[in-house]
Amino acid sequence: MQLIGPWHQDSVRALFDLPFNDLLFQAHLMHRKNFNPNEIQVSTLLSIKTGLCPEDCKYCPQSVHYKTPAEKKALMSIDSIVAAAKKAKATGATRFCMGAGWRSPKDRDFDLLAKAIQKVKELGLESCLTLGMLKDDQVKKLEDAGLDYYNHNIDTSPEYYKEIISTRKFEDRIDTLQKVGQSKIKVCCGGIMGMGESIEDRVNFLLTLANLETPPESIPINMLIRVPGTPLADTPALDPLDFVRMIAITRIMFPSSYVRLSAGRNEMSESTQALCFFAGANSIHYGEKLLTTDCPAPEADEQMFAKLGLRKRSQQPVTV
Ligand code: SF4
Repeated sequence: MQLIGPWHQDSVRALFDLPFNDLLFQAHLMHRKNFNPNEIQVSTLLSIKTGLCPEDCKYCPQSVHYKTPAEKKALMSIDSIVAAAKKAKATGATRFCMGAGWRSPKDRDFDLLAKAIQKVKELGLESCLTLGMLKDDQVKKLEDAGLDYYNHNIDTSPEYYKEIISTRKFEDRIDTLQKVGQSKIKVCCGGIMGMGESIEDRVNFLLTLANLETPPESIPINMLIRVPGTPLADTPALDPLDFVRMIAITRIMFPSSYVRLSAGRNEMSESTQALCFFAGANSIHYGEKLLTTDCPAPEADEQMFAKLGLRKRSQQPVTV
């Protein structure tokens, strides 16, 4: 069985068809070869502008198209952003991600964004932004400001994308990823499992990531949060073992990328998360909120880390 790229539909599909134990064993071997299996990188995500987004992503409580309980909040001040970054640093985060519910940012916002990047970095944190689609000159501004990561998820397969979002095309997403990939900013890009996609869609989602001009250094794999009021609220729950399988395959296909457990952790048992860590997840979003949805409390995560003997990664990556 082929366990290194280049990847094709058949070889990725074969990973999905492996018996669970064989898959996890292979993924764990790959993980150990490339990372310390007892270390976790911790990121905190702050929503710096919340709600009233003109896009219609069917999973998102921030879309203006759906009636959801999510709060609406204008772009935060620099002081509030820095205060949140300091708190994240104090709780052990090494990366501070800032997300804005926009289709794309306005040029007038870039002074504040540049300042936020600078302040976050002065605290010794890696900086990450997710702002929607970017133009060339906007990528350049973020690059000049020293941004470390830009998050732009493709969410699902090219084929299934139109079932989830109609206000932009999959190609728009790829276009921004290409622009960012050609800059010094590192690419963070992943997707959401459990939106009603087929195994073929999961295969094609991973193949798209693998075939990006610059494959992502950081891959958030989210489990759908079925937020009341969104069109996906009544989607059947994803089997946790299918989620673990997805983590394992991502680890095998992207041996040196950080694979992140992101949305949906609040609904996962510790056992599911432990299996995900064994299968190669080595990063989590940490803190009480993930944009507008709940995350496990930091104390609960600390207890889980203690039970599993996991350490939070220090600022400098540890080589093995
Ligand atoms: S996922 Fe992002 S782009 Fe889509 S509706 Fe939510 S905030 Fe807007």
